[in-house]
Amino acid sequence: MAQVLYPKLAVIGGGLIGSSLIRAARAAGVVGEVAVADASERARERIVALGLADFTTADVAEAVKDADLVVFAVPVLAMGEAARAAAAALKLGATLTDVGSVKASVAEALVTAAPAGVFVVPGHPIAGTEQSGPDAGFAELFLNRWVILTPLKREDEPYLDAVQRLADFWKALGSNVERMDAAHHDLVLAVTSHLPHLIAYNIVGTAADLEEVTQAEVMKFSAGGFRDFTRIAASDPTMWRDIFVANKDAVLEILGRFTEDLQALSRAIRWGESDKLFELFSRTREIRRGVIDAGQESPEPNFGRDHRAP
Ligand code: NAP
Repeated sequence: MAQVLYPKLAVIGGGLIGSSLIRAARAAGVVGEVAVADASERARERIVALGLADFTTADVAEAVKDADLVVFAVPVLAMGEAARAAAAALKLGATLTDVGSVKASVAEALVTAAPAGVFVVPGHPIAGTEQSGPDAGFAELFLNRWVILTPLKREDEPYLDAVQRLADFWKALGSNVERMDAAHHDLVLAVTSHLPHLIAYNIVGTAADLEEVTQAEVMKFSAGGFRDFTRIAASDPTMWRDIFVANKDAVLEILGRFTEDLQALSRAIRWGESDKLFELFSRTREIRRGVIDAGQESPEPNFGRDHRAP
């Protein structure tokens, strides 16, 4: 029998990630009581119907009362408001974490809202799908996926113990845990996740706006490449709007580099520099092999669900 790491878990936002976390934590036996606060009435109804929580409410303060672990699983720009709503009701010694896809601004929002005597340990599971809501969640979502924790620059023992306990929690859910500086996390994710989503949103938008090619043709002749982009571009609009607003600096920096490289590619195509094209396509094939070797792509695409984005 697994050890209960947190007698009471409170999750703020019981959507895809929040509900998956509850399912996984219960399956692993590492939490006792579970309370959920969600702003959406529909989500609350589904959370009750699915039997995900012992207590479901719209009131954040009510949910976090007596909780040992509070997980904020709302869109990135809603984190501050949710943390402020929780602040006065938090238990002394509780650990506050989140699952937001951007770390520096969310960490600042949590720290600003948190009262003294609670431990803020921001986090981000690199696991997800393009679905939203409690029904889309599943217990295996975090299995063999990375969770990045971005602890504060604190060296006191109670804080380090809280960080370790949270790392143990994620490991019990099947994840690998890495610690990272929040700003570095935002740069890494701008490359590996945020820019790819921006490209997908843009290419699908471009195809939709083309006048010479009809939308019916775009859908009918959707080849593998475009089809994959449409899956990514179907991701939740609120969540992605928030990510680009909250990670503006890192995304713009990487976008600048990307645009320069794209210009070089455009030149190579214009001037028939086939060696340059071949060299790049060979190099990128190696990177794909590296991703597979790193275990971040399985031969079976996980029942059709993508466990990596964003
Ligand atoms: P989701 O399925 O849309 O669930 C979020 C839920 O939180 C919704 O029911 C939403 O209600 C509710 N909510 C919004 N603001 C709230 C507030 N202030 N107080 C209480 N509830 C609130 O979202 P998700 O995909 O689980 O994403 C949650 C977080 O995880 C985001 O920060 C995202 O960046 C991060 N993340 C997502 C993925 C992914 O693949 N989806 C992967 C890793 C990390 P309304 O619908 O009424 O707003």
